[in-house]
Amino acid sequence: MKTWVYIDHFNGEVVPASWEALGVGKSFGPVSALVFGKGVDAVAQAAFEFGADEVIVADDAALADFRAEAFAATLTALAAASAPDLILLPTTTRTRELSAMSAIDLNTGVLVDVTVLEDNGGQILATRPVYEGKLLEKTVCAAKPQFVTLRARAFPKPAREAGRSGALSKAAAQTAALTSVEGYTASESSVNLADASVVIAGGRGVSNNPSLGLDEKATAEKGFQIVGELASVLGGAVGATRAVVDAGFIPYAHQVGQTGKVVSPDLYIGVGVSGAIQHIVGMRTAKLIVAVNKDAEAPIFKVARYGVVGDLFQVLPALTEAFKKKLGK
Ligand SMILES: Cc1cc2nc3c(=O)[nH]c(=O)nc-3n(C[C@H](O)[C@H](O)[C@H](O)COP(=O)(O)OP(=O)(O)OC[C@H]3O[C@@H](n4cnc5c(N)ncnc54)[C@H](O)[C@@H]3O)c2cc1C
Repeated sequence: MKTWVYIDHFNGEVVPASWEALGVGKSFGPVSALVFGKGVDAVAQAAFEFGADEVIVADDAALADFRAEAFAATLTALAAASAPDLILLPTTTRTRELSAMSAIDLNTGVLVDVTVLEDNGGQILATRPVYEGKLLEKTVCAAKPQFVTLRARAFPKPAREAGRSGALSKAAAQTAALTSVEGYTASESSVNLADASVVIAGGRGVSNNPSLGLDEKATAEKGFQIVGELASVLGGAVGATRAVVDAGFIPYAHQVGQTGKVVSPDLYIGVGVSGAIQHIVGMRTAKLIVAVNKDAEAPIFKVARYGVVGDLFQVLPALTEAFKKKLGK
């Protein structure tokens, strides 16, 4: 099977799930990585080190910023000329747009947010969660190339082999685009929840501590401070429920759930989170779920492997101290 893997990056910073996709590609045989951008030699070298046998680079000033038209036209032209069987991409906002546009140009389909991929005699059989994760759907794409975007952290990341190399080929960029990027502004809060191996999520409970004598917002500030301390000791990211996002206690970028982000960390700790289904669908694929809640009947305990019934304002600082000691921090 002729397999290509698109390496998604922003200004040379690669989305880690691209390497996971490379590992999946390798399991089917030799794999070519696609690297588009401007000044992307380091990304191409990293692609070799994570297992690419060939790296196809389109290096052009017109590709310095992601613009779906130019990127999709470049991908389409390459695929039309070389006829790969399978094009793998990590699932990101950019690749959803890119794969959909290119698939339309090539008269084929896209299987999105896939969590298991099997080679069924040249035809790819993809498994992906549907209906808020209640069902797992098995899908095939009848046309070629088969575009598949892979969910972050659903597949192992291959080991990096420093100095590894392979065949490097240059490709022409298709530069026509009606849009141009005027600049970037960092959003109020940038947090990479999808790639985090540890997520500590705070719910409305973080705003509930009458003994502080503060209003809800100020209490939530203190609550998220102690959530953040635990996250930083564990090298994790801070997540949140929609209740605290809607209340304005933390930016939307932290929201986990049906209308937020889907996370699959090794460890998820929900504190002051009741466990509404709309939240659970965003974290139920976590490998280990831990819950801290005052209410022993809270639904989150039904999905948690370990539960602590108690006040998060007491339990969390104790947990943080214990982890600090254990990890020698
Ligand atoms: C269409 C739709 C989409 C939605 N999308 C999402 C989504 O993407 N993500 C999401 O999270 N929600 C989503 N929701 C909202 C969801 O239904 C719940 O309302 C929300 O998840 C509840 O958030 P919570 O657990 O923080 O708050 P609550 O349900 O109010 O629970 C707070 C919990 O904190 C506990 N607690 C209180 N004080 C303490 C303390 N001091 N120490 C320990 N525990 C304490 C309580 O016992 C309680 O269990 C959506 C809803 C709808 C209708």
